[in-house]
Amino acid sequence: MPTQTSATFEIDSKLPETMRAAVYRGVNQIHLETVPVPKIGPGELLVKIATCGVCGTDLKKISMGSHSAPRIFGHEMGGLVVETGAGVTKFSVGDRVMVYHHVPCGKCYYCRKHVPAQCVTYKRTGTTAGFEPSGGGFSHYIRVMDWIVENGGVVRIPDCVPYEQASFIEPVNTVVKGIRMLNLEPDETVLVIGQGPIGIMHASLASRTGARVFTSDLFAERHAIAATYGLNNPIHAGQEDVVQRMMAETEGRGADTVILCVGGNALIKSAIDSARPGGKVMLFAQTQHGEAPFDPGAVCVLEKSLIGSYSSSFEFTDEVTGLVFDGYRNGFDLTRLISHRFSLEQAVEAIDVASHPKPDSMKIMIEPVPGAGSL
Ligand SMILES: [Zn+2]
Ligand SMILES: [Zn+2]
Repeated sequence: MPTQTSATFEIDSKLPETMRAAVYRGVNQIHLETVPVPKIGPGELLVKIATCGVCGTDLKKISMGSHSAPRIFGHEMGGLVVETGAGVTKFSVGDRVMVYHHVPCGKCYYCRKHVPAQCVTYKRTGTTAGFEPSGGGFSHYIRVMDWIVENGGVVRIPDCVPYEQASFIEPVNTVVKGIRMLNLEPDETVLVIGQGPIGIMHASLASRTGARVFTSDLFAERHAIAATYGLNNPIHAGQEDVVQRMMAETEGRGADTVILCVGGNALIKSAIDSARPGGKVMLFAQTQHGEAPFDPGAVCVLEKSLIGSYSSSFEFTDEVTGLVFDGYRNGFDLTRLISHRFSLEQAVEAIDVASHPKPDSMKIMIEPVPGAGSL
């Protein structure tokens, strides 16, 4: 458990008019700017940000220019309710909360077919620190819109759980959703490629199903962190051939399931090659459009399934919340995945470190009030 800091993180006696925020101004351009504190309307909340994780999807949007500028990104956040709009009954000023930046409608065709990430309502972002709503967590305050508040997008954090542990609820949800789609069985062998925070979460949850889990990564430092989550079958990808090792471990068949947790297309072939005939390959980190080479015979003749999973599902909210809030007892203390905590003024550096992973960089957090994440 992180040690308590002396940071002061409280309800403001008087809200400031302006705040600092990391504003996206175009491809690879993040500027620290002074912007107005958002105003809230009926049914809405104003949340003071304690901490916000930098997510791979933020980095992709910033480096690829896939979204118009200006925007304020950041969506893995925990904070304090400092103002409630007219008619809000479920939450009060002073509540510690984690906020999802989008929620599905629960009724449309996609929601009924259990692919909520394709729901039109879900694609609307409902939290903002100003400009086009885009999360807003890389700032001091966010406005949480009424449909998020109303439809389960705000989760109360118990006093004993630090904001930064709670900020993992959204990424953990995406991982639980992916693991559920794979229907893992205890006699199976799983390979998780990539041991960044998302890869470690996947491997840890896969091993809880009873499956035998192998993890591959180039960096020994990451394997060392993975080992603290009970992941004791590391494959040092820089030193040994991952496909050959998986064959050797499975009487020449290949893994029953392979989960790819490294972005880009470079490892898709290895992932497919590592899977046994009839096995499954999940592209998890590959969250962008484009074209990639793959062997259609591996899918048709060898009957390997290529599966994708994107974003979170509200079907698993209670399970995910329980898992994260109970993390210190159930071995799922996610704060061990945090390698860097930057202040908001250092947001450019934070995003740069997150964009260029090094052996010792894992989850990067931005804390508008330094130290508040561990409260
Ligand atoms: Zn995320
Ligand atoms: Zn829907």
